[in-house]
Amino acid sequence: MKTVGFIGLGNMGGPMAANLVKAGYRVFGFDLHWEAQERLTEAGGVVAATVAGAVSDADVVVSMLPAGKHVRSVYTGPDGVIANAPKGALLIDSSTIDVDSARAVAEAAKAAGMLMVDAPVSGGVGGAAAGTLTFMVGGEAEAFERAKPILSAMGKNIIHAGGAGTGQAAKICNNMILGISMVAVSEAFVLAERLGLDAQKLFDISSTSSGQCWSLTSYCPVPGPVATSPANRDYQPGFAAQMMLKDLKLAQEAAQSSGAATPLGAQAAALYAMFCNSGHADMDFSGIVKYLRGDA
Ligand code: NAD
Repeated sequence: MKTVGFIGLGNMGGPMAANLVKAGYRVFGFDLHWEAQERLTEAGGVVAATVAGAVSDADVVVSMLPAGKHVRSVYTGPDGVIANAPKGALLIDSSTIDVDSARAVAEAAKAAGMLMVDAPVSGGVGGAAAGTLTFMVGGEAEAFERAKPILSAMGKNIIHAGGAGTGQAAKICNNMILGISMVAVSEAFVLAERLGLDAQKLFDISSTSSGQCWSLTSYCPVPGPVATSPANRDYQPGFAAQMMLKDLKLAQEAAQSSGAATPLGAQAAALYAMFCNSGHADMDFSGIVKYLRGDA
């Protein structure tokens, strides 16, 4: 039986670790919060008192942490994963973090002779619980091949994006498309309202015309056309506006450090910052339509 050290057992990491237990892995986990620790015990895993304790016998280490600074501190330093996991262990960070931090930690792992991948996810808490996440994986081919079986116990689509950091690059590029397209679709519905065009009619026409996109046809920001949209449950997330803002900021940081021009990404980040600052950080990100309409 393979042993996994799992660091970060929150909304995503908790159910992901539980799926590893279900798939027959021995899971030793560590989190700073007792509620998260308790969830692992209930799922059949073993709680460790430190990062070092969770990873000291691990064949594979998986982490699911909030941001780049947490990932840097958990992996590097004398109490971290790299210093305390067995040399042959494979390291997998599934947090959504900045590309520079992902590459710095992968470099530190490589310098210690260890294989590492960045493997951020798409699919949210529902996908984590159902084991249907999409993993976007950055790292060497050998590391990807070793990561595949364990990622398959937590997700459905496992895609090799390229070298270290490209998993994070894929995640923030995808979510920048999503943020911009949600604003675009929302603006169109607000304009339609002003012009006396019925929302369902705009949906029927645009969903079969060149305006078609996921934000329109799978996650329509106005109530009615798509039954499963958060718009039909008063914009309860789903995917909270503050999470979208986090990803748009990561895209802007990456654009600045790489010199890419992303003017619409910058606009979307500014709009989501205003939306969050006006008290809507916990609303679903498609609620931006209310803000554009002037009623949020
Ligand atoms: P969360 O805040 O629920 O969980 C993070 C956990 O990390 C917390 O339990 C926290 O106590 C723990 N933690 C922080 N620092 C730690 C440390 N030094 N040692 C051990 N544990 C530590 O967040 P989440 O929703 O599970 O998200 C985790 C990551 O997944 C984020 O990067 C997020 O952007 C990404 N993500 C989230 C979603 C989603 O829908 N929630 C979807 C896709 C990606």
